[in-house]
Amino acid sequence: MDRLRVSIVEARELVLAECPRLAPVTVELADAIGRVLAVDIVSPEDVPPFANSALDGYAVLAADVATVPVELPVVAEIAAGAAADRPLAPGEAIRIMTGAPVPAGADAIVLVERTERLDGGARVRIHETVRSGQAVRGAGDDIAVGSTVFTAGTVVRPAVAGVLASVNARSFPAVPAARVAVLSTGDELIDDGSPLGPGQIRESNKTMLLALVAETGATAVDFGVIRDDEAALEVALRAATDTCDIVITSGGVSMGDYDVVKAVLSRIAEMTWLEIAIKPAKPFAFGRLRRADGRPVPILGLPGNPVSSLVSFELLARPALRQMMGHTEPLLRQSIVAVADTPLRRSTDGKVHYQRLHGGFGADGRYHVSAGGPQGSHQLAASAVANALAELPDGDGVAAGSDVLVYLLSS
Ligand code: AMP
Ligand code: MG
Repeated sequence: MDRLRVSIVEARELVLAECPRLAPVTVELADAIGRVLAVDIVSPEDVPPFANSALDGYAVLAADVATVPVELPVVAEIAAGAAADRPLAPGEAIRIMTGAPVPAGADAIVLVERTERLDGGARVRIHETVRSGQAVRGAGDDIAVGSTVFTAGTVVRPAVAGVLASVNARSFPAVPAARVAVLSTGDELIDDGSPLGPGQIRESNKTMLLALVAETGATAVDFGVIRDDEAALEVALRAATDTCDIVITSGGVSMGDYDVVKAVLSRIAEMTWLEIAIKPAKPFAFGRLRRADGRPVPILGLPGNPVSSLVSFELLARPALRQMMGHTEPLLRQSIVAVADTPLRRSTDGKVHYQRLHGGFGADGRYHVSAGGPQGSHQLAASAVANALAELPDGDGVAAGSDVLVYLLSS
């Protein structure tokens, strides 16, 4: 089988070209966290909708309290959610709570702590002057009716959702969460807790990949561990394709001898088999499998070695899922130019190496990384607790004190 030898940048371009943005759907606000808006949101209302008090205190005319102390009759009281039953006349005060509408005739609020209740609340002594407009939150102060609150492409984070609620955007077009089928392949894999027989190992990739998929905001769908059996694999792949937006497999794409995943995908899907100039995660497959109606569904074939699976997810699958869900650059994790506190050694082999390391911000404000645990592609335990993925260009590594690009793995 011919393999296309590419750089990681070329590989990512090829994969991203297969994974266009999903068509927008109408999303309910309650389900919108993490989604990307597909339209601009224009406010149909002023926020706040009416001039209201920023404090608990007394609504007055600033001119009436220009000389203090001064005593005024308290002619009404307005709580949040209520409206004044009468306007304020010159020489009067109206007791007002935070968020209550400022009565007509008043132009400022005096903070309650600067006042004294007299005659059981019938009168108030005011000890501080206010300027006109003080502590009055004007209508539309936050958002004016007709203004664009968010543009298409905005990610609905918690505070964005709060603003959407405040402008009564109860549902709107957004890019949906991708439904991502995850399956692992291999006769050696055991995932039901039973004792290991000869040659068997515990399944780990699917467990990890389901969680990595969920972490992107996509919906992970578990298609199980599939035996190295052509018929079983074809059934699983077709079921995954029919019900999901993209399929991620692990195992069976390496340069080894005859492999069931390669055999089945080569037969039923339009695949490109890559040899990427990186370590780990050199083998990778991508392509499309068509549904009965002809619609192509992208397939990403990740290598089986657990660390390779992790690294190819980060470098290729995660950007693909994010693009499908409407995110724009950066599609990769946040990157930063870090300082290597220890030498990061490697050998020259024509590949870019990705080392899983520990890092953190130092007192100098820079991010620092140090050489970490074992880097074997089967040694997931050491990589599992790493929080930085360092990119080491071809050569003999990075000297202590030198700069190194890292991707921050923990959000
Ligand atoms: P493969 O890519 O199928 O040739 O597998 C490469 C290595 O990764 C082999 O040692 C497999 O046993 C191991 N492997 C494959 N899939 C998994 C998995 N889902 N969980 C843990 N190890 C796996
Ligand atoms: Mg295998």
